Amino acid sequence: MNLLKTELNPENASLHKILDNLAVATIVLSAQAQLRYANKAARQLLALTPPEQTLSGQELLHQLPSEEQTSLISACRAHRNDQLSLNLSATSRQNVKRTLQISLQPVDDDSGDLQAILKDMSQYQAASRLPVHFHQAMQQTQDLVMVTDSHGRIEYVNPAFIHQTGYAENDVLGQTPQLLSSGEHDNTFYHKMWKTLRSGQSFRDIFINRRKNGKRYQEEKTITPIRDEFGQVSHFVSTGRDITELVNSEQHLDFLRRFDPLTGLPNRQRLCEHFERHVLQRKRAPMALFLIDLDRLSLINDSLGRSAGDDLLKLFSQRLKQRLPEHFIGRLGSDAFLVMAEGIQTPDQAAHMAQQFHQIMALPFELTQAELFISISLGITLYPYDGDQFDELINKADSAMHRCKDNEQGFGFFTEDLTIQTQNRVRMENQLRQALLHRQFHLVFQPRVNLQTGQVQGVEALLRWIHRDGKSTSPAEFIPVLEEIGLITSVGEWALLRACNFASQWLQKGHDLGISVNLSARQLRQDNLPEVINRCLDLTGLPAHKLELELTETSMLADVEHSIAQLEKLKAMGIRIAIDDFGTGYSSLAYLKRLPVHTLKIDRAFIQELSADSTDLDIVRTITQLAHSLKLDVTAEGIENREQLNLIKELGCNEGQGFLLAKPMNEVDLLHWHNHFNLNRVIAGEAS
Ligand code: C2E
Ligand code: MG
Ligand code: MG
Repeated sequence: MNLLKTELNPENASLHKILDNLAVATIVLSAQAQLRYANKAARQLLALTPPEQTLSGQELLHQLPSEEQTSLISACRAHRNDQLSLNLSATSRQNVKRTLQISLQPVDDDSGDLQAILKDMSQYQAASRLPVHFHQAMQQTQDLVMVTDSHGRIEYVNPAFIHQTGYAENDVLGQTPQLLSSGEHDNTFYHKMWKTLRSGQSFRDIFINRRKNGKRYQEEKTITPIRDEFGQVSHFVSTGRDITELVNSEQHLDFLRRFDPLTGLPNRQRLCEHFERHVLQRKRAPMALFLIDLDRLSLINDSLGRSAGDDLLKLFSQRLKQRLPEHFIGRLGSDAFLVMAEGIQTPDQAAHMAQQFHQIMALPFELTQAELFISISLGITLYPYDGDQFDELINKADSAMHRCKDNEQGFGFFTEDLTIQTQNRVRMENQLRQALLHRQFHLVFQPRVNLQTGQVQGVEALLRWIHRDGKSTSPAEFIPVLEEIGLITSVGEWALLRACNFASQWLQKGHDLGISVNLSARQLRQDNLPEVINRCLDLTGLPAHKLELELTETSMLADVEHSIAQLEKLKAMGIRIAIDDFGTGYSSLAYLKRLPVHTLKIDRAFIQELSADSTDLDIVRTITQLAHSLKLDVTAEGIENREQLNLIKELGCNEGQGFLLAKPMNEVDLLHWHNHFNLNRVIAGEAS
């Protein structure tokens, strides 16, 4: 830093301005202790008037008693590298005596100059200048007292402060109260504080601070700005009371009022408050309430003693909290617990969660006296479906819980229809998880016929689920469930491999039939789909062009860019792609143009109502023309009668599929059918 040059070179005005803006009083002295430069803060402190040209070493030295003049000169001459402090008295024009501290530091060039920082020590002595009785009062009060200068630097702390915070005087003097900050107040808090203090008023609030040992404490504090004889704020006095214990005891009382002392869980009152807050804040956002009843608590109390029962309750609460951290859990009374699950919004989700509760109970509880397996009963109510009052929902959950005590699944909704519906669903899920293992899935095949040539173009593989008792469930019912529980990918892969295998065998036997396989949205999303399909083709030896994949519009539109990328890869492998159930989704023409597909399959809803004067006729005609203009083939699915067949043929659809031509059949029936099929006979009404 070359302050000397700055002073001598008036063109360097901007550096001057910067130095003048510094709150720290800075001067430059020559080796002879002559004042070469003083920034604005220093000029004010030394009561010097600008311009700087009038500054001279004499003026500073003149203000000093002679022995201090000598010590300053000798300090400057010594040009010591380390910092040096001297106490000097300066007399301002108002004739106010100031005690200044000068910290000298040699300027790092060959000028021999020193830079120095001035500190007004008279401020630091403020507390000692207080009237004796006032000072004593501060020393003796139980309140925490702290005095800071106008910049917030601590000048005084009383013994109560030292005692409570654990800081020694030396730790805090010269520091700012920031030292105590716990970081728990935000900027708005401090903004409000400074705004009040700057307007000359006292600020009062509870400060959360930290002691020297890191422990937080709460201080009810009042900060008051103090003005000097010129009306300027020279100090801030803060007095406060450590209210940590008071707050803690209030909190303890509150704990007793709102928590169950045995388990530490929220009690009925707290649960109710939480519920009401949810209703208030989230309005009618659905939520499920699970009332859990421990089945044999009274038996355990009677046989093993009350303390065993208490232990069980504690262990059970811990397990619930650990396994369901995202939900609000409380104890309603003796053996009844309540879980409020905000994320659970539908009966199906609630039924799944009910299962989760039973899984939580699968492991035994280790009590000192014994290891116990415990079962629970669950009553479920849904807010706002079953009611919007806490007590009402609890009562309903209670009656649902009693009703379900003996049922197979161990849970019940207040609305019995929901119980039946969701229990069926849960049962189906559990059965589906076993179905692949137990070889309950089969494929049937429905032919696709070229309506112009009468050739059987190929067959669509359709999944069947046949239960142990011979009953079957419709794919429209179980495929969405497979999708939801994530099993569709493995079942889909199984279907794909099996379908390709059949088609390959048929080819070898001289039946030139392509195979169409339905793919679910989840399968399309899987990045490894091309590899999976490649593996199927490799394993079965089926030529790629014999395989067609059917996807619905909705499954493709979920993530258009990813779908396009996936389909491009499949198309490049030589596989054909069809849009299934076309007309039921929301494909825009813009997307249709970009999707790399070969065929549109018009949904059977449009075919079933088809007659010479129906609006569906116009729809099918438009779709066919649109498809042809995009160079796509059109398949009409669901043809059930000859009128529909003739209309479709006339409209120029390439292929037809439906019960009139052939119902889905197993592989044996299919080959027999293929040997005998004749389209003209169907058109003539000779065969069905
Ligand atoms: P989809 O792919 O549109 O299959 C055509 C459905 O229409 C089949 O029902 C078929 O039996 C039925 N169908 C065919 N012709 C007629 C007709 O003339 N009249 C009537 N009323 N119905 C006819 P299905 O086999 O019950 O399959 C329903 C849906 O389940 C399929 O619709 C498809 O979306 C899905 N699906 C079937 N198998 C699979 C599979 O392996 N994977 C996937 N992801 N989905 C499959
Ligand atoms: Mg299909
Ligand atoms: Mg379809």
